[in-house]
Amino acid sequence: MVAKPIPKLAQKNVAKKKPAAKRAKRVSPAERERIVEIFSRFEALEGNPSTELEYSNPYTLVTAVALSAQATDKSVNKATKVLFAEADTPAGMLALGEARLTDLIKTIGLYRTKAKNVMATARILTEQHGGEVPLRREALESLPGVGRKTASVVLNELGIEPAIAVDTHVFRVSHRLNLSKATTPDAVERDLMAVIPDPWRTRAHHWLILHGRYTCIARRPRCEACPVADLCPSRALFTGL
Ligand code: SF4
Repeated sequence: MVAKPIPKLAQKNVAKKKPAAKRAKRVSPAERERIVEIFSRFEALEGNPSTELEYSNPYTLVTAVALSAQATDKSVNKATKVLFAEADTPAGMLALGEARLTDLIKTIGLYRTKAKNVMATARILTEQHGGEVPLRREALESLPGVGRKTASVVLNELGIEPAIAVDTHVFRVSHRLNLSKATTPDAVERDLMAVIPDPWRTRAHHWLILHGRYTCIARRPRCEACPVADLCPSRALFTGL
């Protein structure tokens, strides 16, 4: 039997039933101007921001970023100073062994799980990638303990792919500055990539982190010292001005 063609009206209805694509935030020209001014000021204050994590090659960068989940960069740097002096390659990490690694990172939160992931990653890199870190998102995200956020930080830091990893600071600052109202890190990242003009995308991650870490602090933002206070819709909430 030959199937009847679908009438035009029915085709329209079928099309309507498709799930709506996730849209990134759109902004008005005035809003775009405000965002441009925010990032111009960040750039004027710090033209070349970089991660505060210490690393010497892609492997130590991936490892440091993975260790920094739910830990401060300061605590990670303290531990990795000794760790990377003993092992700064996947082969070196395997030779070091899990017991010594665990001991060296025991001051970092979730250190037992992180030690297991670092060892598993070192094994995969040695056996499947010739001891090198694959600098592609998919391959990075498949490594134990390396999720989207870690991959974004690594690819962005090494200048391979502009990405804005959304951690707690980036999430908070993005909401306070009304760069995004999204409720998940992935959706906030999508909004930021849509509203931040291209020349600033690679550095935006650092600016937002540093701003959240030192000025737009979670409990008591330092609005009186904030370089973008006059552009911030949340200032009145904290200062009454
Ligand atoms: S004005 Fe206050 S709330 Fe707004 S970005 Fe600056 S520090 Fe954060």
